[in-house]
Amino acid sequence: MLKRITEHDIDRARVSEKAVAVIEKLRDAGFEAYLVGGCVRDLLLGQVPKDFDVATDATPDDVRQVFPRVRLVGRRFRIVHVRMGREIIEVSTFRRALSEEDHEPHFSDEGMILRDNLYGTVDQDAFRRDFTVNALYYDPTADVVLDYCGGMKDIASRTLRLIGDPKTRFREDPVRILRAIRFSAKLGLNLHRDTEAAIAPMCEMLNAIPPARLFDEFTKLFLTGHGERAFELLSDHELVEILFPLPAHGEAVAKLALASTDHRIREHKPVTPGFLIAAFLWQEYLDHLEPTSTLASSQQEDPASTVIAAQQSTISIPRRHGWFVRDVWHLQPLLANRTSRNVARVLAHRRFRAAYDFLMIRCATGDAPDELGEWWTKAQTVETDELLRELPSGRSRRRRRRRGRNRRRRGAADMSVANGGPQVVEQ
Ligand code: ATP
Ligand code: MG
Repeated sequence: MLKRITEHDIDRARVSEKAVAVIEKLRDAGFEAYLVGGCVRDLLLGQVPKDFDVATDATPDDVRQVFPRVRLVGRRFRIVHVRMGREIIEVSTFRRALSEEDHEPHFSDEGMILRDNLYGTVDQDAFRRDFTVNALYYDPTADVVLDYCGGMKDIASRTLRLIGDPKTRFREDPVRILRAIRFSAKLGLNLHRDTEAAIAPMCEMLNAIPPARLFDEFTKLFLTGHGERAFELLSDHELVEILFPLPAHGEAVAKLALASTDHRIREHKPVTPGFLIAAFLWQEYLDHLEPTSTLASSQQEDPASTVIAAQQSTISIPRRHGWFVRDVWHLQPLLANRTSRNVARVLAHRRFRAAYDFLMIRCATGDAPDELGEWWTKAQTVETDELLRELPSGRSRRRRRRRGRNRRRRGAADMSVANGGPQVVEQ
């Protein structure tokens, strides 16, 4: 089964010297060690790996004996981070797949893996990995690729294929469904027919994944430069609705926010999950703003909190990102309310820039008038007193009359006035 491949496209200049040093040091101490996973896959596809992982038969304690500066990490299993200058090399011990005989506590009643912390050999380690292209080992000393699962053939045909029976592998860990989408989006790989066919029957199982793990996967899907494509693929496989309550007419804002995030990443500008969460849940938030009963409305919970809390049951939103989302949303009606007092307040707000970027996305989808976006673009460079005087008269009086209504109702109303009617997102 093992193929040793000496003819391959790995460009040695792209291999981290620090990772090679870690491997050589482990070998000198009598252990087996290889580069593995995403870095080997990316090198074979001609891409620059973002980090380098090493797999070895040394246990975490053995690794600690070999390297003075290490840190033990890992929620689900122990991994060693070896620091080499500015680089951190992740070293993990070969593990084996669980078999039918490994019942509890390793599997849940539904067949999901709860623990996979059993050490194994390199060939066992290959078969417990998710996709064939992720199960290739590179020996930098001999310049050889070890292929146990047919990964080289799939690299050549740009195919993403689960190792083993697809339904079983998705059942064991449904997050592999999202990983399939992510690798396909990031690397332009085509899902193998059998892998793709297993998504629909297994996707409901994503509901059983802890929200914190889904948040991690959310950031990898959408904040690594290929979010727009990942969203398209999620949509094609009807997975969006499993992750978010995204109403169909909310897609336009979500897609533009993703395109803008991808663009910022290409330009090495900072990005934040909060901006995307604000976009994904925007339509849901607007739906919650619909004036309901006025009775005791001031005692009702902020609709922003209601919407964020509902999302937390699927994907957890760390507190600071939750506050970011609230700020961006709460600033939208204030952006539409151009009185001199408000304009000064909004410009000084620490989330003004994010709220403005969000407004521009709303303008681009027809969810807010272009004139409003253009006004705020100018307001950042020109004296606002002058701009305020240029506004058609009556605008600010109309706003003032609305004061005194409860805050949230006022927010919703202002947004619709600014749009010249109810919220309709153009498709
Ligand atoms: P990236 O470039 O995004 O880091 P990666 O392939 O390195 O891609 P990681 O999440 O860093 O992805 O995982 C490293 C390796 O561990 C994978 O290549 C795969 O072999 C294995 N792996 C990770 N998650 C799983 C999983 N859920 N099931 C099976 N194997 C996995
Ligand atoms: Mg990795």
